[in-house]
Amino acid sequence: MARPPAGSTRLVTAEFPIDATITAQALRHALMCERRVWLDAHADSALRDPPAPEALRLYALGSQHEAAIHAATVPEIEPVAIASWEEGVAVTRDLMRRGVAGILGACLEARTPLDLTDTVYTLRGRVDRLVRVWHDGEAVYSPVEIKQRNHPEDADWLQLDLYVWLLSLIQGTPPPAELWLGADELGRPRWRLAHDYDEDRLMAAALRAGHLLTSAPEPPVRIEPHCATCHWLASCQGVARRERRIDLLYGVSRTTRANLEAAGIRHLEDVVARSPEALQAIKGIGPKTAPRIRANAQAWLENRPVWLDALPAVCRQPGWMFDLETWEVRGRTVPWCMGWCDGDGQTLIALVAPVQLPETLALPDGQTVILAPDSDAAWEVFAQAVSEDHRPIFHWSGYDAAILRGSAPAHVTAQLMPRLHDLNATLKRVISLPLKSTSIKPVSTHLGFAWPGYQDWFAAYLDYRHWLETGSLEALARACLYQRADVQSMALVWRWLVDHAPPGPP
Ligand code: SF4
Repeated sequence: MARPPAGSTRLVTAEFPIDATITAQALRHALMCERRVWLDAHADSALRDPPAPEALRLYALGSQHEAAIHAATVPEIEPVAIASWEEGVAVTRDLMRRGVAGILGACLEARTPLDLTDTVYTLRGRVDRLVRVWHDGEAVYSPVEIKQRNHPEDADWLQLDLYVWLLSLIQGTPPPAELWLGADELGRPRWRLAHDYDEDRLMAAALRAGHLLTSAPEPPVRIEPHCATCHWLASCQGVARRERRIDLLYGVSRTTRANLEAAGIRHLEDVVARSPEALQAIKGIGPKTAPRIRANAQAWLENRPVWLDALPAVCRQPGWMFDLETWEVRGRTVPWCMGWCDGDGQTLIALVAPVQLPETLALPDGQTVILAPDSDAAWEVFAQAVSEDHRPIFHWSGYDAAILRGSAPAHVTAQLMPRLHDLNATLKRVISLPLKSTSIKPVSTHLGFAWPGYQDWFAAYLDYRHWLETGSLEALARACLYQRADVQSMALVWRWLVDHAPPGPP
């Protein structure tokens, strides 16, 4: 605060140092998207989306995995109740002073300037596990970060950098650290990777995050696959739409988008202004993708479907709509549920269940399901049901065909495979819609399908597991409603394509 000269009438504002908190999560997010960190700090939190199902699923799976690893590797856990973050920091310090063998969910925090400004930053992180180890002749606490996946990410090392730095302030020396990945058959970590502490990497990341929290201008929207789990997605999509950014285009990778921008193509109208031939001059865009990208830009600008090609004859005839849900059984991905319907939406569902032979079950909402003892039997039920004709079997993306090839009995694969038709691949080839994605949910919703219940496969899976454990038919009905909606939404898309496609060649 500058002191005014004596006798001055100038008003003075006390300028306290800014206090910004940099969490381990913010460091991770900043590596992925600086805009997210900036919005978290500066935007109205009421504008955030509700948690995306995918984000909830990843969080639940991560927590389950961490708990399972602790259960498999810690002989005895003594819970300590904490009511606030501050109390967690104090309790962690106290437990470290007492020299306990390990601390799960340790709370670490330090306040520090990071540069020559007045800003004081609070750096904090909650460590999955602190373990007391001998290192260079003394006992120190070493942080462990636990992840379900089998491959490390840059953000994992950065997170451990932060924990090591925070612990070095307490212990006087940087401790060793480990990243535990995956799980083996006994529930222990599959990989234990040693961390290589890099203080420069941490300080550079912390400064960047601190700048975003305090003074940086709003970073631009960059719609990427990871945006699916971000609570700012609706806001960012709104910005992308308002600014007609090429981020809205589907099937354009991050590299190709950078190449487009390098060629001066930043907005949808820039794409439409180029011919497909001119677009092909850009690295990453080929003769097949150029017309699709241009049509997608046109669809967005004119808010209408843009046809690229005739609907194949096979899609103009009635067929079966087919979809499945899978789980892992002894290392194999096999269906636990499959659903199919005709073009009018008449649906049947086959489910793997604890039965000896296939049997029928009526659900409270009237849906009939066929219970089958295993996935082979479920495949047989489906093959039998569609054997009354030779109509095409429409499905959405290559996943269903891959699961058929990889899990069905050979004679069922031979019977069904020639009839499968990927309606998603056909849609991408013949038409472009003003959408960022060609998944069945956005496409069918755009074309008028009202999704009943939830739209999350994992929620359906959890309801199915709940039914297996408790026998709750309400839970099973919810899971089957999801499966039914998947095939009925496909029927609506198929019908819409047939009704709206321009006449094809005779
Ligand atoms: S939606 Fe995407 S671009 Fe927007 S803040 Fe989130 S991660 Fe960043």
